[in-house]
Amino acid sequence: MRNLMAKLGDNMRRFMMGRYGMDDLNRFLYGTFIVLFLLELLIPIARVKMVLNIANTLVIFIELFRMLSRNISKRYAENLKFLDLTAGIRRAFRINKKKFDDRKDYRYFKCPGCGQEVRVPKGKGHVRITCPKCRASFEKKV
Ligand SMILES: [Zn+2]
Repeated sequence: MRNLMAKLGDNMRRFMMGRYGMDDLNRFLYGTFIVLFLLELLIPIARVKMVLNIANTLVIFIELFRMLSRNISKRYAENLKFLDLTAGIRRAFRINKKKFDDRKDYRYFKCPGCGQEVRVPKGKGHVRITCPKCRASFEKKV
């Protein structure tokens, strides 16, 4: 069994040689496929199911095509384009996650002067905050 698994792994590695493989865009496509697939399972309306089935089939084919593609430079360029187009969204997600992770120890305020967000440690009572960007000063309870 162990031998068989090792052999399968070797064959897989050989098969993937010179092919593009996984990247951010493919991970996104895979996530999209999973969401569409689950929606297809959950939504009981036949017409919607059909559309979702076509959509998730299309998405998984695009992902497989990209993964198995030998045109590595073209796939790489597509991934860069994807990362470039989604930079703003990914940044917003990162910031929100950080705020959520920090929620026990910090509060976030918007500077009334310039709108810059300022992070202040919690539990210090009334504090005077000086904006690091525009030096405006304001008071808050933390
Ligand atoms: Zn400011």
